[in-house]
Amino acid sequence: MEIDKPTTIICTVVAVDHANSIYYRVCSVCEKTLPENPTIPCKFCNFNNRFNPSTSGSKRLFRVLISIATDTKVFVVIMFDRAAKVLFGCSADEFFDFAKTHPYAAMAAGRALEGEMLNVTISKPKNGNAQHMRVVSVVPLRSGFQPAIETLRELYRT
Ligand SMILES: [Zn+2]
Repeated sequence: MEIDKPTTIICTVVAVDHANSIYYRVCSVCEKTLPENPTIPCKFCNFNNRFNPSTSGSKRLFRVLISIATDTKVFVVIMFDRAAKVLFGCSADEFFDFAKTHPYAAMAAGRALEGEMLNVTISKPKNGNAQHMRVVSVVPLRSGFQPAIETLRELYRT
């Protein structure tokens, strides 16, 4: 889809990509991207020098690829933390912890969201090389919508 300015569309969730990681790790202070298992201090702000980098010095954020359908086409968009939290209903770290004991949680979350009708605002990626349109904001339209984590908690009775 070619657009030049942020555009709001109504669409349906076709699928959530759970084959790729739905998270990435960032420094908890400067939020720059870190390797998945950071062993060195954050080179951007050095904050992690004072902490065990595997715990308090970093956190996960959502980065989720979602196929959506409008009335004319199906395409893939990328959803970062703020938008993904609306659909998942928790932080990426909380979801990661949940997925430790429920290994299929990402797949189940995708299933829970399939078919949901959304009002999304999409815009061109900031990075010109990025492949997918970026979701700026998302509003679920179904009155009984519940975030994926709530569906999963019911499913797994936790
Ligand atoms: Zn940092």
